[in-house]
Amino acid sequence: EIVDPMSGILPPEVVITGPELTPEEEAANIAAAEAAELEGEDDLLEEPVPRATFRARLSRARSTFSGYVGSILSRSEIDSDTWDELEEALIRADVGIGPATELLDSVRATVKERGITTPVDLIAAVKDEMKARLAGSVELARAEKSPSVWLFVGVNGVGKTTTIGKVGKRLTDSGSSVVMAAGDTFRAAAAEQLGTWADRCGADLVRGAEGGDPSSIIFDAIASAAAKGADVVLADTAGRLHTKTNLMEELAKVRRVADKGDGTVTEVLLVLDATTGQNGLQQARQFTEATDVTGVVLTKLDGSAKGGIVFAIRSELGMPVKLVGLGESADDLVDFDADEFVDALFDQE
Ligand code: GDP
Repeated sequence: EIVDPMSGILPPEVVITGPELTPEEEAANIAAAEAAELEGEDDLLEEPVPRATFRARLSRARSTFSGYVGSILSRSEIDSDTWDELEEALIRADVGIGPATELLDSVRATVKERGITTPVDLIAAVKDEMKARLAGSVELARAEKSPSVWLFVGVNGVGKTTTIGKVGKRLTDSGSSVVMAAGDTFRAAAAEQLGTWADRCGADLVRGAEGGDPSSIIFDAIASAAAKGADVVLADTAGRLHTKTNLMEELAKVRRVADKGDGTVTEVLLVLDATTGQNGLQQARQFTEATDVTGVVLTKLDGSAKGGIVFAIRSELGMPVKLVGLGESADDLVDFDADEFVDALFDQE
């Protein structure tokens, strides 16, 4: 039984009155109250989530880096210890020895050229060099004629399925129609997981039997998208196989079959888990040999990732990081922004 807590407090004959309102004022009040109520309901349904920013989410990466930066800034001049500390900061942050050395060589040249003598100017030069090295377009390509096909590749557990869900949400939020292809037929529950994301964002899902042929599911999804006039096909692929078929051979086949369909493959996105650091690079090398990877989605850059892997990917593989995962929920996928990323790494607050 629901009890009205106010009942019995005021005797029923008491009527609370106020100054007389004109009918127009009354109508305006009611409209305002209804609008406020609707807003309130929205708040209940959807907690207001702060926008995922590099600054807010790169916790480990920032704490690793900012200690070194603080120490360098507290020195009165630039000496060999300063350079050692810079190098150590980069290596600790997962940049990798090769890329760190290259980066610092360029900075040394700049320091000489511009006659830089203070740590503040040195740090500014390092930031500029990092930003320049990471700059580039992060746009995801679309074909002139729909559907565009974006394949997602990567080993199990890196966040492929989640990323497809997040990308699907972005696309549908911006008015594009999306078909998801459950091409990871070897991981139990991958199709269900993708189905949940598809429901959530209003995308269609094409799936097949467990253990079925991923290529044919993706081919069917492209055909279905073409028939419906859908804009983008987001295709999940296997990250590990139960059969003896080599994963890389399988992916090469997926790519060939996808290319034969009624759509155009415009992106092959390699999903890498930032917390695996330099191991991720090894995976990346294998995948780039099997398919023409067009860009990287770096997931889990929140949490324990140290961030420098972004440089390693760019300088060792020449591939752009296009998207970054900063958390598990739908809105935690952002375009990679070199300036924002570098500023966040060095931020001392
Ligand atoms: P898949 O095997 O590659 O399809 O990986 P899943 O999409 O199933 O993701 C594996 C786990 O990583 C799940 O628990 C995800 O919620 C989590 N995950 C994915 N992306 C991110 C991210 O950007 N940040 C964090 N913290 N977790 C993520």
